[in-house]
Amino acid sequence: MSAEQEQTEAQEQLMQADKVQEEHVRPKRLEDFIGQEQLRANLRIFIDAAKQQGKALDHTLFYGNPGLGKTTLAQIMAHELNVQLVCTSGPVLERSGDLAAILTKLEPHDLLFVDEIHRMPIAVEEILYPALEDFHLDIICGQGPAARTVTIDLAPFTLVGATTRMGLISSPLRDRFGILQHLEFYTPEDLARIVQRTARILGVQISEAGALEIGRRSRGTPRIANRFLRRVHDFALVSGAKEVTEVEASLALKTMGVDELGLDVMDRKILQVILINYAGGPVGLKTLAAASSEDVRTIEDIYEPYLIHSGFLKRTSRGRMATEKAREHLKDVLGQIA
Ligand code: ADP
Repeated sequence: MSAEQEQTEAQEQLMQADKVQEEHVRPKRLEDFIGQEQLRANLRIFIDAAKQQGKALDHTLFYGNPGLGKTTLAQIMAHELNVQLVCTSGPVLERSGDLAAILTKLEPHDLLFVDEIHRMPIAVEEILYPALEDFHLDIICGQGPAARTVTIDLAPFTLVGATTRMGLISSPLRDRFGILQHLEFYTPEDLARIVQRTARILGVQISEAGALEIGRRSRGTPRIANRFLRRVHDFALVSGAKEVTEVEASLALKTMGVDELGLDVMDRKILQVILINYAGGPVGLKTLAAASSEDVRTIEDIYEPYLIHSGFLKRTSRGRMATEKAREHLKDVLGQIA
């Protein structure tokens, strides 16, 4: 096996281990879901009201960056309502028959979770409309003059959609959700609480300052915080430390290319391209993607929202611009090049 293949295999094993851990530490009850106070309070009311009335919960749409807790909330809702959760995703539902097969198997009040719902083909989306509104499916059988519509009744169910791109959801679909909830980036303090909870479950010793250090550098995202905890723990184990302290966390994250404000190698590359190649911008998204060797969707969905949220990047009508804060943060690199 070549060194490159070995590296890829090692990375895949790490990702697999992260996935297993993700399921293991996922909160099961609303009380264990940390942060997003307003959203949590709202959901508590909606869930209790649906339970009291013996009705299916209103269709719910969660939107926000990857790793902020959309799947976790769907699982919590099913657990709290004591119903079955059926999971699928927009790109998997290629034909309307795929969705019909799932919908006809749902029991009353079940939750159907559709991740990346903005990637569902329009033909599939259209059969969803009557299903959401009146709990029935209109299936067209045959072709031409012999074609006829067969109506199938469905059990009253709840659709829980998740998306990273609210702007890509058509308005007929968006309008059929009774509950729309935005997931915000988490504060470093909330992330520190998430890290401490995960550490307790995994049996990792971590100081309060160590957890906060990871929280500060995790791009406002629980999935990243939990992943960093694992990596930082690995570093601590190898160095023989009994507890992950602030110093351990900071050193380990630095070794992984994460700087003191939580920007990783790709974040800095994007900002450097704008600052150095395009004099601070504005620069179009496609040009930026090509110059930083990353694809447009990854920049738009993963990197840009956090860079904008943390004040390093601005989106203008003429393109992306680096801010004064970005210039200040990268002044050492810019000084070397000047
Ligand atoms: P998404 O579906 O938005 O991509 P997930 O729901 O899969 O994100 O969350 C990623 C991981 O982060 C999960 O393993 C979960 O344990 C953890 N997580 C997310 N939000 C929270 C939270 N508010 N409190 C505790 N853990 C969380």
